[in-house]
Amino acid sequence: MFVKITPMKIETIAIHASNKADEATGAVIQPIILSTTFERAADGGYPSGYIYSRSANPNRSMLENVLAKLENGADAASFSSGNAAGMSVFQSLKPGTHIILPDDMYHGLRNQIKILFAGILEFDFIDVNNSDVLQQHIKPNTGLIWIETPSNPLLKITDIKKIIAIARKHHIKVACDNTFATPVCQQPLALGADIVMHSATKYFGGHSDLMGGALITAIKDAWWAKIRQVQEMGGAIPSPMDCYYLARSIKTLPYRMAGHMKNAQLLAEYLEKHPKVEQVMYPGLPSHPQHAIAKQQMCGFGGMLSVCIKGGEVEAKRVINSLKLFTQATSLGGVESLIEHRASVEGPDTKTPFNLLRISVGLEHIDDLIEDMAQALD
Ligand code: PLP
Repeated sequence: MFVKITPMKIETIAIHASNKADEATGAVIQPIILSTTFERAADGGYPSGYIYSRSANPNRSMLENVLAKLENGADAASFSSGNAAGMSVFQSLKPGTHIILPDDMYHGLRNQIKILFAGILEFDFIDVNNSDVLQQHIKPNTGLIWIETPSNPLLKITDIKKIIAIARKHHIKVACDNTFATPVCQQPLALGADIVMHSATKYFGGHSDLMGGALITAIKDAWWAKIRQVQEMGGAIPSPMDCYYLARSIKTLPYRMAGHMKNAQLLAEYLEKHPKVEQVMYPGLPSHPQHAIAKQQMCGFGGMLSVCIKGGEVEAKRVINSLKLFTQATSLGGVESLIEHRASVEGPDTKTPFNLLRISVGLEHIDDLIEDMAQALD
């Protein structure tokens, strides 16, 4: 029998919080319940607790249980993508609410706000790390500060506790996109955030083969009830298959992250010394401008890094096209290394330098990754 040790370590939570032997068959791993509907009792009640799969499904409940426990939250809601998770937060706000977001946040969510929420919410994209600028932008109707740390793709670190202290003074909620860090490297709820958001498509899925999103809340309050309503009524939910695969992948998340981090640190150190490299952005490097903050609030620096190549866009693109092991593709968090010229996918209002390449460092042997990088740079 499994003995619960409190508090459990993340490796144990990742494996056991989504494990429950199937009562009907004794199967150790939860079966995939594809049924969209659940039988009612003679009195019309729902003895299983399930009614209809848009509202809840056993595989989704299991996934949400492990997500909540990984981030040490009171509850979790899962979605069909990271953008759907983000959108549910924005849809849960009263029309006319003012929100503050980082000016270097993930461009897909930035565009979602700008295009889908124009005329519904008020928003400002600012340097949230500058406390004076942040305080100047707070208005009586400011309801939410959105942060993303480390940021995509500049790997900027936001001091979570500093933002929370300012937000609390003004009774403003804080949501943190924790996709790059994962709960293995950073737990924003423990630092005071109200909600954590993830693109589960990335490290949670970990194999570049499914889309998913997650929100985890510190407390089950009226705001969370509204978010749950958006999830159920909006219906941007993951399928039972995707929930099963996500829960399965999460079991190895801490070990995969350990490998991603080790490789990323070594690759960052190699690149930083290379004469063809202008700058490496990785929070684990002492040269990173917010390395001290990263050390305080993270317990690992993640598997993402960005590198600026000397010689501008042309040279950066030449390097990408000379690589053999790194695949030129968007997205991140899979076991295979990916590399991308970000400015060309982010659109005209990008803040990303044109010589920047974003790297999702995979789990290949570091010697092979460095050898490939060396031949491409040279
Ligand atoms: N947040 C970050 C930091 C991301 O990198 C992404 C996707 O790249 C998202 C959110 C959106 O997630 P999804 O693509 O699963 O909708």
